[in-house]
Amino acid sequence: MSHRDVYLDNNATTPLHPEVKETLAEAMDCFGNPSSMHAYGRKARGYVEEARERVATFMGALPEEVIFVGSGSEGNNTVLSIMGCPAANCACDREHKTHIVTTTIEHPCILETSKCMQGRGSRVSYLGVDRQGKISLDELRDSITDQTGVVSVMMANNEIGTVQDIEAIARIVHEKGALLHTDAVQAFGKIPINVHDLGVDFLTVSAHKIYGPKGVGALYVRRGVPFCPLVHGGHQERGRRAGTENTLGIVGLGKAVAMREREMADEAVRIAGLKEALKTGIEEKIPDVSFNGHPTDCLASTLNVSFAGAEGESILLYLDLEGIAVSTGSACASGSLDPSHVLLATGTPVEQAHGSIRMSLGRENTMEDVAYVLDKLPGIIGRIRDMSTVYTRR
Ligand SMILES: *Cc1c(COP(=O)(O)O)cnc(C)c1O
Repeated sequence: MSHRDVYLDNNATTPLHPEVKETLAEAMDCFGNPSSMHAYGRKARGYVEEARERVATFMGALPEEVIFVGSGSEGNNTVLSIMGCPAANCACDREHKTHIVTTTIEHPCILETSKCMQGRGSRVSYLGVDRQGKISLDELRDSITDQTGVVSVMMANNEIGTVQDIEAIARIVHEKGALLHTDAVQAFGKIPINVHDLGVDFLTVSAHKIYGPKGVGALYVRRGVPFCPLVHGGHQERGRRAGTENTLGIVGLGKAVAMREREMADEAVRIAGLKEALKTGIEEKIPDVSFNGHPTDCLASTLNVSFAGAEGESILLYLDLEGIAVSTGSACASGSLDPSHVLLATGTPVEQAHGSIRMSLGRENTMEDVAYVLDKLPGIIGRIRDMSTVYTRR
């Protein structure tokens, strides 16, 4: 089969949607400061507010409930930092309940912020997950005390795709008098989201996971919920996030959302078909494989698979030579070869976690891509296993 480039790392980031690219090019010359009162400023303000309305409408929120932030990571940092803030004399008017409840499978930007808040004197409880990556609602109920300010549970996991039952979680959190945040960066634009149906108080999204530009995201904060900025300064974003707005990024996010509104439903069906073909093909062509994550409550885009007797990093590098881009959950970027914290949290044996790769599909992938991967992958796994000193075919 002739060489082709197949990008299967859409959970890490996505290419710009062609229409987002066009819109960005048009907005490029709008350099005004949205806070300025003259025509230049008003034009930029118009762009920003149009985008805010689109993002708000798409998630069933009011425009005033949407704050533009510098990334999904910033949105998540903001919620945990303000809700866990132990400073009794802090300027914000919220009740100072500093206990945070979160899960063991969150994105590092939640886990590291939690650790930081612990260092500052907050208490943090981490909910475990079952083999498929779901939290236990009973454990959740038991973990919330009268000191719990916020519970943060991601909607869809970036590594294994498992989708939590946020509605049920919200009911429990509110019964117990706490507020609920969800990191919806992976879910947003892939599955329908309505903040009222979900019952969340805070929700984070990011543009570059939905074919928008990098370095911009949005944080939904339910009207009436106490809030205090993470970035202090000017009066931008109604005093909730200082700094001159990233006009171009915000325009890109707005357009990306508009495109999701148009394409999401059909794309979800098409991508689910690609994933099914990929999964079935792998099962048929390669022995000793297992799939990680929830069999049904899972993002259609995400396929996490373990190959016995093969290191994820080796698989990734061999696939890269063939033009295929995937990822492993391990923190190899940081120089450690620890397996994915998510897979370990689901009780995946260390060996199996080491042999895992994540393939995440996107709107540019086709059945030809799947066929190409299914042509290359069996040989790669076979070669790696042949070199392995520990693998013997079962
Ligand atoms: C990518 C991602 C983030 C971080 O978003 P950035 O905009 O890259 O900072 C947070 N949570 C999840 C689940 C993600 O997949």
